[in-house]
Amino acid sequence: MIKKLLIVFFATFFLNVANPNPWGFFGHRRINRLAVFTLPPPLIGFFKNNIEYITEHAVDPDKRRYASKFEAIRHYIDLDHWGTLPFDNLPRTWLGALSKFTDIYAVQNQDTIQILGADVFDYDKKILKTPIGDIDKRRYKSFIYHNIFPQYYNENWTIHQDSMRNLFEDNWKYPNAKIIAIDRISDEGIVPYYLPRIEKRLTKAMRNRDITDVLSLSADIGHYIGDASVPLHTTQNYNGQMTEQHGIHAFWESRIPELFADDTYDFFVGGANYIEDTKTFYWDIVLESHRHVEDVLTFEKELSKTFPQDQQYCQIERNNVMIRSQCDNYTKAYQDKMDGLVESRMRSAVKSVGDIWYTCWVNAGKPNLSEIEVKWSEDDIQKQKELDSKYRKGKINGRAHE
Ligand SMILES: [Zn+2]
Repeated sequence: MIKKLLIVFFATFFLNVANPNPWGFFGHRRINRLAVFTLPPPLIGFFKNNIEYITEHAVDPDKRRYASKFEAIRHYIDLDHWGTLPFDNLPRTWLGALSKFTDIYAVQNQDTIQILGADVFDYDKKILKTPIGDIDKRRYKSFIYHNIFPQYYNENWTIHQDSMRNLFEDNWKYPNAKIIAIDRISDEGIVPYYLPRIEKRLTKAMRNRDITDVLSLSADIGHYIGDASVPLHTTQNYNGQMTEQHGIHAFWESRIPELFADDTYDFFVGGANYIEDTKTFYWDIVLESHRHVEDVLTFEKELSKTFPQDQQYCQIERNNVMIRSQCDNYTKAYQDKMDGLVESRMRSAVKSVGDIWYTCWVNAGKPNLSEIEVKWSEDDIQKQKELDSKYRKGKINGRAHE
């Protein structure tokens, strides 16, 4: 019995380790590593000196998904939840999105009154009409900034009566009500909203020449840009679960690159460019990814119907374990049908990561980073150990990755 349990335990352990992750761990590591070579001197010197760190830690954000509920939503955005391209209804700033899509209710006695929500917020208007009176939009944004923004994605929101009185002035008529806020943005994913925030932190770390932060934030932002470059990270049907294509996520972003990237992709993407408007840059990445969602799904669907059934899945070896995965020829047929899409999204990710590292460095005043010795504190080392151990435990417990 114990022996059987042990076998199950190890089988689960190894299968999970072998399980592909977004862009595979392989893809994220390659993207960060290759992005180093887009940088100009003297910045490239610093990144080259630390290329092993930048490569290895490209996957930390995926590991963190097992440690914090706030992490997962940073890796995707379900754009189709919000309508269709070009999603003009979706504010491009996080504050704008929270302003528009946070519902606020007053609960008093038996009554629940909706006070604020998507039908109230309008970018083109200075005065917003609510069920209980007009409010100035600037005042509303400041209310969101101070009350909602710091609490996004929390389960228990605290909004004080004072804040409501401040917002509505004389129109506020619920002094005894409990105020409830419902954040409708975060669950649908926030990757293009989160990227500017981490960019700001990276720029600051470079300016302060805080080398350990520069390294970990560079690795992190590379990961999130990598995710934003994947079509299936921009749709609710992220794993084909709505179209009976379960597993397409890993097929697209792990199986294909692992089989073909090193030998056949051209990763010469040119030198990094300075990006003037980074917010639009991040949005362009997710919008471009989203443009390909339909092809990614329908091409696989078509292929699965025409390709010989018994030649679609094979036992393949991964980390010394045999697992069931798409056969090499089936994988190649899917890649060919997409006509270089995986390669071009991966190339675009490499270039974008280089662009943003370079842009942060320029905005930080082009500090000389190479002359500072990289020294990890005991605290940093301990944190990394905890992260790795939580990640391993999460994997063993078989929690879903996506
Ligand atoms: Zn990720």
